Parts: sequence; C-alpha cells; structure tokens
Amino acid sequence: MPSSVVTRGMGRKLPWDPLTGAGIIRSCYSLSCPLPDPGISTSEQSIYEDDRGMSSLTAQVVIVGGGPAGLTAAIALASAGVETALVANAPTAADHRTSALLQGSVKALETLRVWELCREHAAPLRVMRIIDDTGRLVRAREACFAASEIGLDAFGHNIENRFLVAALEARARELPALVYIRDEAVAVDIADARVTVRCKGGTAPSARLAIGAEGRQSLCRSAAGIDIRGRTYAQTALTFNLGHSRPHDDTSTEFHAESGPFTLVPLPQRRSSLVFVVDPAEVSNISTLSDAQVAAEIERRSHSVLGKVQIEGGRGVFPLAAATATRLGAGRVALIGEAAHVVAPIGAQGLNLGLRDAATISELVVAGHREGEDVGELTERYDRMRRADTTSRMLAVDLLNRSLLSDFLLLQGARAAGLFLMERVGPLRRAIMREGVTPWASQPRLMRGEAL
Ligand SMILES: Cc1cc2nc3c(=O)[nH]c(=O)nc-3n(C[C@H](O)[C@H](O)[C@H](O)COP(=O)(O)OP(=O)(O)OC[C@H]3O[C@@H](n4cnc5c(N)ncnc54)[C@H](O)[C@@H]3O)c2cc1C
Repeated sequence: MPSSVVTRGMGRKLPWDPLTGAGIIRSCYSLSCPLPDPGISTSEQSIYEDDRGMSSLTAQVVIVGGGPAGLTAAIALASAGVETALVANAPTAADHRTSALLQGSVKALETLRVWELCREHAAPLRVMRIIDDTGRLVRAREACFAASEIGLDAFGHNIENRFLVAALEARARELPALVYIRDEAVAVDIADARVTVRCKGGTAPSARLAIGAEGRQSLCRSAAGIDIRGRTYAQTALTFNLGHSRPHDDTSTEFHAESGPFTLVPLPQRRSSLVFVVDPAEVSNISTLSDAQVAAEIERRSHSVLGKVQIEGGRGVFPLAAATATRLGAGRVALIGEAAHVVAPIGAQGLNLGLRDAATISELVVAGHREGEDVGELTERYDRMRRADTTSRMLAVDLLNRSLLSDFLLLQGARAAGLFLMERVGPLRRAIMREGVTPWASQPRLMRGEAL
C-alpha cells in the first residue's frame, strides 16, 4: 500500500497511511498545532473519511507543487494563519540553475523570513551590462545600468535554486498552519464548494481553493479546463556554474549574440552562473566537449571578462519556450508560476513573475479569509489582477528575443536604437530601470515589504 509523507509545522515527518493516517494527523494537530491566531477560523481544520474510505484533510487552500512559487504561496498563506496543505512530490533531478531575483522578490522573501536563510548564498546585482556581440551591420552600443542611479543598493540578488528551495522548505517546516504532503498529486476533483486533490499515496486533501504551482504540466490547469497557448523557439539554453580568476564586481554581463543571449550573472565570491542560448544543432557538439574545452569556449565567447574559467558540476539543457494559460484563475483554481506562464530565460523574468503571482493570490486569500469570504471565489479577481503584468513581461521578452534572432534589418535597427536611447537619455534609462525592478502593473504588499 503506497503512503504519503505528511509533515505539519515544526518539521516533524509523519507517515500517512491511508487506512490509519487520520489518527496520526489528529495527534499531530494536538502536538504541533495549537489553535491558530485568535480571530482565525478553525472550522476548516478537520479530518474525515471520504466515501472511498480514504483519510482526507480539509484546509482553506491546497497547493500542488513545491517549487519556489508553490512554497512561497504556502509560506505566505500559512504565516498569515490560513490553513494550507501543500502537495509536493520529491524532485526527480537536481536543479543547478540560478535565479536572479529582483528587489521586489527579495523584499517579499525578507518579509516572509526566508531571505535570512538565503543571504549567504546570494550575490548582489549592482550593475547590468548589455553588449551587442552579433557582429551584424546594425549593432547597438554597449549599455550599462547601475542600481545606484535609481537609489538602490542592488537591482536584486542571484542565488542557486537549490539553496532557495532549501531555504523555503526550512521556513515552511516552521509554520503550524501548513501541512506538507510529500507525494504526487494524481487527480484534482473540482466540485461546487470544494476542490479535492488525490495523491498517489492515498491522501486526499480538500479545500475551498486549489493553487496550481506544479510547473509546465499542471494537473490543476487541466482539471479547471484552462488552455495554455505558446510557442517553442529554435533555441536551447545551456546552463553552467563557473569559477573564474577575475572578480565580477557585482556586475551581470549579457552578450547579445545571433543565436540568443549569453548571460553571466554573479554568484558569491569569484563565481558566476551562465545562461548560454544556442541553436539546438549546437547542443550535441557542446555536450561532447570536456569541461576544459567548454571553459575555453566560454572564455572566448565572454571575451575573457572574467579571466580564466572553470566549470562546476551540474550542466543543464533547457529548450526555450514561451506559453501562457488563457486564464490565470477559473472556478476554484488559481495558477501561479510556470503552471500559469513560461517565459524564455532572458532578462530574469520567469520566477520574478511567479513570485508576484504567489504574493498576489496570497494577499487576496488572506484578506478574503479574514472577511469570512469563500476564498475559492476569488480566482476571477486574481486573473484580472495578474493579466497586465504577465502579458507585458511576456511580450517584452519575446520581442527582445526575436530582435536578436531576426535578420530583418528594421528590427535590428529598432533594438539598437532602443538600447542607444536607454544608454543616452538619463530619465528614460532611469524610468526603465525602475519599471524593471518595480513593475507598475503589479506591486503586491509582500513585494513592498508589508506582512499579510
Ligand atoms: C535556464 C533558465 C534560467 C532561468 N533564470 C531565471 C532567473 O534568473 N530569474 C527568474 O526570475 N527566473 C528564471 N528562470 C525561470 C524560473 O526557473 C522558473 O520560473 C521557476 O523555476 C518556476 O518555478 P515554479 O515553482 O513555478 O515551477 P517548478 O520549479 O517547475 O516547480 C514545480 C514543482 O511542482 C512539482 N510537481 C509537478 N507536478 C506535480 C504533481 N502532480 N504533484 C506534486 N508535485 C508536482 C515539481 O516536482 C516541482 O517541484 C529561468 C529558467 C530557465 C529555464
């Protein structure tokens, strides 16, 4: 008989057996979950046997997917006292990618008391440099943007995903209002008043609202009948983490090459991450190269800005795609992170959008819960609130990427002129930098440093 591993607050792991698990969870409530903050309803906390004899848990919100977006939403909700169940399967492969988190995302993680666990693993991004390395007829000037110009210490911080997720998991384990179910969701049943998530091990948490945070293949999205539209690009991102002989000076350097960007982003000490976008035909050639050969190629393509390069373990290969769900919320389902939108890894937008999704849905649910509303009915509002931010960012990334790939002179000229104007016209440059860090379309409270 398969079983899920269920943890409630304070980090205790409890085997959840579908036949006997209810008792274990009840004792867990009494051991680790004294009643939530005064004023917060406990009516949703109960265990019952459903009509198939499965032990089930009820909560206000059930989240499927324990990546950075799902974990952030779980922490935001549970730290405000909203009873939350998180269904997260064990990762199948190590994630060696890094995420450049912009200032608002860092602020949200600070507010949720996650950033204190990340800080030593993160490097500040104080300067961003864009270099046109296309060798084309129409080329842009080098553009340099300093955070200090808009009164910031840094645009954001870069951190390896494995440290970010470990920090989020550690914080999640501290929260008594959060039940962590280490299992795979296999079905999502949406009824009039509740959503039930059925897990492989037999657990079946149900809640007023389901948040789909399971990444690109979203079960919640399919269950809610929401379509996803998108495209694949004839580009593949190769990822590497590097040590190097010269300091990066907290500067990220993006070379715009004809196959796409080649972006070096600082990590602590003399280390950087690299997203190297290539033609898919190049992938097999590069993967047959030894670490020393790849290092030499990286040094060549980066014009030795970081000196001698050494490759660390854990190369990654990601075919590029862009996709958006036709709705970000419908019925009793809200979608966040890559369940809602997939963005090409250009300009560090993907997870920053995902964290704004998590912050927005959490803000709506916490406020609705305090007002005694049915939080499953907030999804249309959530959809409306996230549209402008998502659409504008996806369009900007797509346009920038196409302008690099295109042989169309007019488009190349427009890109070069745009970068030239940004470089030369101070107010425009500062407005664009501010918009990059604090988007006009979305500044949820957590991103402003306000607790929910
Ligand atoms: C090369 C590259 C570089 C990037 N760099 C940046 C960057 O610098 N800055 C930035 O903001 N963004 C960046 N991104 C984007 C960022 O990595 C993604 O937006 C982010 O990882 C998505 O997080 P998520 O939580 O939505 O989804 P995921 O990380 O995919 O997490 C989903 C989780 O759900 C789990 N899951 C799936 N199905 C189920 C199920 N049925 N039951 C239970 N659990 C399930 C999965 O195991 C996984 O743990 C980059 C992307 C790429 C490809």
